[in-house]
Amino acid sequence: MAFEGLAERLQGTLTKIRGKGKVSETDVKEMMREVRLALLEADVNFKVVKQFIASVKEKALGQEVMKSLTPGQQVIKVVNEELTALMGGEQSKIAVAPKSPTVVMMVGLQGAGKTTTTAKLANHLRKKHNRQPMLVAADIYRPAAIKQLETLGKQLNMPVFSLGDQVSPVEIAKQAIEKAKEDHHDYVLIDTAGRLHIDETLMDELKQVKEIAKPDEILLVVDAMTGQDAVNVAESFNEQLDVTGVVLTKLDGDTRGGAAISVKAVTNTPIKFAGMGEKIDQLEPFHPDRMASRILGMGDVLSLIEKAQTSVDEEKARELEKKMRTMDFSFDDFLEQLDQVRNMGPLDELLNMMPGMNKKGMKDLKVDDKQIGKVEAIVRSMTKKEKQDPSIMNASRRRRIAKGSGTTIQDVNRLLKQFEDMKKMMKQMTGMTSGKGKKRGKG
Ligand code: GDP
Repeated sequence: MAFEGLAERLQGTLTKIRGKGKVSETDVKEMMREVRLALLEADVNFKVVKQFIASVKEKALGQEVMKSLTPGQQVIKVVNEELTALMGGEQSKIAVAPKSPTVVMMVGLQGAGKTTTTAKLANHLRKKHNRQPMLVAADIYRPAAIKQLETLGKQLNMPVFSLGDQVSPVEIAKQAIEKAKEDHHDYVLIDTAGRLHIDETLMDELKQVKEIAKPDEILLVVDAMTGQDAVNVAESFNEQLDVTGVVLTKLDGDTRGGAAISVKAVTNTPIKFAGMGEKIDQLEPFHPDRMASRILGMGDVLSLIEKAQTSVDEEKARELEKKMRTMDFSFDDFLEQLDQVRNMGPLDELLNMMPGMNKKGMKDLKVDDKQIGKVEAIVRSMTKKEKQDPSIMNASRRRRIAKGSGTTIQDVNRLLKQFEDMKKMMKQMTGMTSGKGKKRGKG
């Protein structure tokens, strides 16, 4: 996960101050020195760091103490707010033209993830905004880029406009937009040509495409793994093309995060989306506030909830909740829940979004997909009766299950014990919420 080093260091620094009843100027200075080092180490642009530290210092020292927070917490709040502001403050959404189609030009260097992101964005627009995009293959230089987009289009069942690699990108763009109008598409996503480096030919060509296509949005795709280079690339593209937004790709990798934190500050261009993996659905709208709390270990509960909402069947979730309340929860439900959690994506990724999960010491809490496979095999080896009522599980049943699932009796015992513990915990938890969450009046 990106930002691991930065998150760890910042959280370490902030923990020292969190509980303090009094925060002196020396405390703040000391802390700011550490924050500064952490940011520089994460490859954040040094000018950005300097400004950031100055404004945090000023706000942290100048603020009146709020009753609800300890002074230590208040400093953390300031850091969180400033970090959010640095990354753009409010979420910046993709443009919608007053008159369809909205034309989006995708630009970037080769290998940044431009073609992949074009398809991901089309998928996002259809899924989340109910749009009907058309993809345009205008990257005529990178071998196989056209083929790649066509394959992705097929996978998505979405039209891809292409004229091969012998027609100029300007002509492709022109004809594509006409076609999109004819076919009533509301978004046209043009995958333009990239190069290995920024050069004049590339920029000239992109300018020509821009002139013809009159895009409502020019999205620059940059690879977050390249750190400061990504920021420099963004600066150059922006000078030439007036980019309207940035997509940071490969934020799932172990990037130090400097690019994400500096791009907006240096180029004054908002980050609109983040690529979180190679798969078509691994593109997320970029929320500066959520990203800041993720970095500071406050968790990204909102993203987690959104993820859950899109991938978990609501009715099933409600049913499950009822079962938990009535203590009817069986191994069958357990299996179903396992499937739902799986649909949400890799467990490590989910855990990273939870408050406190990113902290030192919690790192060993790696979720092992293999381990889950084992658990699943054990449950699947149970008979219907055993799944419904684990209390009947005697030694011979346990032995049979271990054999059937290719595990050991210890594995089976452990799971049964965990299941009991989990039920106990649920009982406590539902006890807590049913007291607090009681609805008043008509429901
Ligand atoms: P282009 O030359 O800019 O069009 O680059 P591509 O779209 O072909 O992407 C280059 C490589 O980066 C491919 O292997 C993609 O699968 C990969 N890639 C793109 N976006 C992401 C991302 O968000 N995360 C990861 N891990 N890989 C990505």
